[in-house]
Amino acid sequence: MKILRYWSANKLQTGWYNDGLVGPIEGDIFTEFRRLEAKLPLDKVKLAAPVNPGKIICIGRNYGAHAAEHEVEVPQIPLLFLKPPSSVIGTEENIILPPQSRQVEHEAELAVIIGKAGRWIDTEDVSDYILGYTIANDVTARDLQRMDGQWTRAKGFDTFCPLGPWIDTELNPVDSLITCKVNGEVRQMGTTRDMIFPVSHLITFISSVMTLLPGDVVLTGTPAGVGVINSGDTIEIEIEGLGVLKNLVTVDR
Ligand code: MG
Repeated sequence: MKILRYWSANKLQTGWYNDGLVGPIEGDIFTEFRRLEAKLPLDKVKLAAPVNPGKIICIGRNYGAHAAEHEVEVPQIPLLFLKPPSSVIGTEENIILPPQSRQVEHEAELAVIIGKAGRWIDTEDVSDYILGYTIANDVTARDLQRMDGQWTRAKGFDTFCPLGPWIDTELNPVDSLITCKVNGEVRQMGTTRDMIFPVSHLITFISSVMTLLPGDVVLTGTPAGVGVINSGDTIEIEIEGLGVLKNLVTVDR
């Protein structure tokens, strides 16, 4: 099933997507819900980010080729950082370049949506705690990341966490192609097979530090090919089976 959120009569509505059509969901996607008939054409609805996370836990340098392009070592244990929930936007919303940075970059990533609360989750039980997957862009002010030493500012600006277009609850992304195009030109191409720490290891590791809650989002790291985005650019990130996350870049004034 594909779960999304969309605007209906100025209200945010949870829904589902099937074969070009969107329908409402009644109830709570994390507990009990039912699907109503899908009859709205997708191109007639304005989508929002598919989830409103309590926290966004991110993994740095989880692909060897990306660590190499920044001339940093591959970590021996997962490198965790956080993005604030206020950085989330949906597909077709604008990434706003902040005036403090001269070097904002795209990072195409697979995102895991947590479905159930858990702490000290065993690796073999991880799938019980995952609602599904979506696409993320871990937008990063690279110059500020270097300047600050830690990454809260560089990763935390409003609009720096595009998520979407929907959550797929059936995909098993062990070898899914990730591509990122800027203005139609391919910048990043990788596969989730090349993650240093796979999803099951990441969820176990994070849950040994903090309780994971329904709706929390885990960004699993980016393959090689990150690069600068400029005002007017269109960023399209595709993950096989998950659709396309598309955002325009604009300037904050
Ligand atoms: Mg990243």
